[in-house]
Amino acid sequence: MKAIIVGGGIMGLATAWGLARQGHEVELFEQGPLPNPLASSMDEHRLIRHPYGTHAGYARMIDEAYAAWNLLWSDLGQTLHEPTGTLALTGNGADWAEKSAATLASIGRPMTELSMDELPRRFPQLDTKGLERAFWIETGGVLLAQDIVAALATHLGAQTRVQLHAGTPVRSADLEHGRIVTEAGETHGGDIVVVAAGAWAPRLLPGLAGRVTPSRQVVVYFDLPEDQRAAWARGPMIIEKTGDVGLYLVPPVRGRGMKVGDHEFSLTGDPVAPRDAQPGEMHALLDRCGSLLKGFDRWQIRNLKVCFYSVTADERFVVEKQGAKGWAMSPCSGHGFKFGAVMGLELAKTIAEGRDATAHARWAAGLAGDGST
Ligand SMILES: Cc1cc2nc3c(=O)[nH]c(=O)nc-3n(C[C@H](O)[C@H](O)[C@H](O)COP(=O)(O)OP(=O)(O)OC[C@H]3O[C@@H](n4cnc5c(N)ncnc54)[C@H](O)[C@@H]3O)c2cc1C
Repeated sequence: MKAIIVGGGIMGLATAWGLARQGHEVELFEQGPLPNPLASSMDEHRLIRHPYGTHAGYARMIDEAYAAWNLLWSDLGQTLHEPTGTLALTGNGADWAEKSAATLASIGRPMTELSMDELPRRFPQLDTKGLERAFWIETGGVLLAQDIVAALATHLGAQTRVQLHAGTPVRSADLEHGRIVTEAGETHGGDIVVVAAGAWAPRLLPGLAGRVTPSRQVVVYFDLPEDQRAAWARGPMIIEKTGDVGLYLVPPVRGRGMKVGDHEFSLTGDPVAPRDAQPGEMHALLDRCGSLLKGFDRWQIRNLKVCFYSVTADERFVVEKQGAKGWAMSPCSGHGFKFGAVMGLELAKTIAEGRDATAHARWAAGLAGDGST
C-alpha cells in the first residue's frame, strides 16, 4: 500500500512512522522546511499528564500514549522525555484539579491530595496564597517536542520506503480518489491520503472550517535568576487554575527553557500572519505568575512565542475518514502532542488493517470504552 501524507508535524510524521513500520510506502509533503518552525509541534517542549478534568477517555489514553512513545524511543535509540510529576492547583471557585482527581480515582490512578501546610514544604518556590487545594501524581513530564519532530524526520528520511518532500505546499487534496496536487501543479496519488495539516487544515479541507478553529496562543519563556535555576530544573509541571487566569508551567528540564502559558483559547488569528507578540498582551498571566511564583520579580522574559492550536467546540480530536480514500487528522485543541505517537500508530493500523473508521474516530475523540467522557 502507498499512503500520501500532507503535513510534517508530529501527526503526519507519526502516521508515516506507523505505516513504514508495517512495510508500507509513504510520500509525505510539507509546505515548509522539515521540521517547520511554524508548525504547532515545534516548540521546545510539550507536556504529558494524566489529569484530564472530566475527560476519562483521554486520561485512560495516557497509558497508551506512553507505550507508543516508548516504542518510538526504542526506534530512535534515544528517550526524548523527562519525567517531572504533575502538580494540579486550584482555588477561588475553579474545580478542574478536583474533577481531574475524581476522574483519576474512578479509573484506578488516584492523585494524592497535599494539604496547604504540606504544599510549601514540598514546593518552597510557590506562594500558596489564594490556593485552596493541591493534588499530586508522580506521572507526567516533558516531551522534548522539537527534538522529537526533528529526530523522527531524520529517522524516516533514512528509510527507502519513505519519501519526504520538504518545501512542497499542497494546493488541493482529493480524498475521494486519493490524489493531491502541489502548488507547483504536480499530481501525486496513493491508496490513501491523510491530511495532517494542523492549523492550516481548514484551508485544504473546507469541511473542517467552522469545526476546527485556528487559535493564536502566546507562551512566555523566562531566564531564571541563578539561585532559582537548579530548584526549578528539578521542579514539577504545574497546572493551575484559581479564578480568572489558569496557567501551566513547564520546568527547564535538560537545559531547555522555563515556559509559562495560559489555558485560554484566543480563537482568533491566522497561521500565515506575522507572529509578533508583546509582553503587554500577557499581563493577566504575568500577574498570576507574580502571585504564585516566589521571586518572580527577578525572572526576565527571554522571548514570547506565538503558536497555533486547532480548536474544536468540545476540545475532542477530529480524526475521521473522508471520501473513499482519505482521512482528516486534526487531534489538537491545544492538547494533541502528548498523543502524537499513539495517534500515528493507531491510524496506521486502522488504514492498513481496514479497521472500522467510525470506531477509530470515537477512540480518537476520547469516547471509546465504557461510554464515559
Ligand atoms: C502554545 C502551545 C502549547 C501546547 N501545549 C501542549 C502540551 O503541553 N501538551 C500537548 O499534548 N499538546 C500541546 N499543544 C498542542 C500540540 O502542540 C498540537 O496539538 C500538535 O503539535 C499538533 O500537531 P499537528 O501535526 O497536527 O500540527 P502541526 O505541528 O502544525 O503540523 C502540521 C504541518 O502541516 C504543514 N502543512 C500545513 N498545510 C500544508 C499544505 N497545504 N501543504 C503541505 N504542508 C502543510 C504545516 O507546515 C505543519 O508543518 C500545544 C500547542 C501550542 C500551540
